Amino acid sequence: MTVRAILTLKGHDCVTIAPDATLAEAANLLSQHGIGAVVITGPDRRVIGILSERDIVHQISALGAAAMNQPVASAMTREVVTCTEDETIPQLMQRMTEHRFRHVPVVDRGRLAGIVSIGDVVKHRVAELEREHDALKEYIATA
Ligand code: AMP
Repeated sequence: MTVRAILTLKGHDCVTIAPDATLAEAANLLSQHGIGAVVITGPDRRVIGILSERDIVHQISALGAAAMNQPVASAMTREVVTCTEDETIPQLMQRMTEHRFRHVPVVDRGRLAGIVSIGDVVKHRVAELEREHDALKEYIATA
């Protein structure tokens, strides 16, 4: 199974924000969409950063309420680890575990093509295990 299988189910939409937006705007976006990270894109939908709720919490811890007026660019991670749709789900899980983050943007020919969160991966894996379980039960019942 590849990342493509997850995107086929959840779609290619990915919430993005400009680097000069404020952290207050980013927090609103996360809240409105019920998500944990937004991707920052430049021209041609190229990924230039990622901002997760943890980055916002970190800035609030450092600056207090003033953090909310800071630009997204001041808090985002610039070295973004991405994947392609051809990557397998076990490979992606390994990468998330290794780097200890919960979001990986998907790129296609350098352009943003979706995002996969740890929640998407777990949901997919649980469905896969349920299918295997049902197939085994069926096999035993009819053997
Ligand atoms: P998360 O676990 O996704 O909430 O992110 C934890 C930290 O890792 C935050 O500082 C994020 O900006 C950063 N981060 C999240 N996803 C990625 C990614 N795909 N590549 C690089 N950094 C990331």
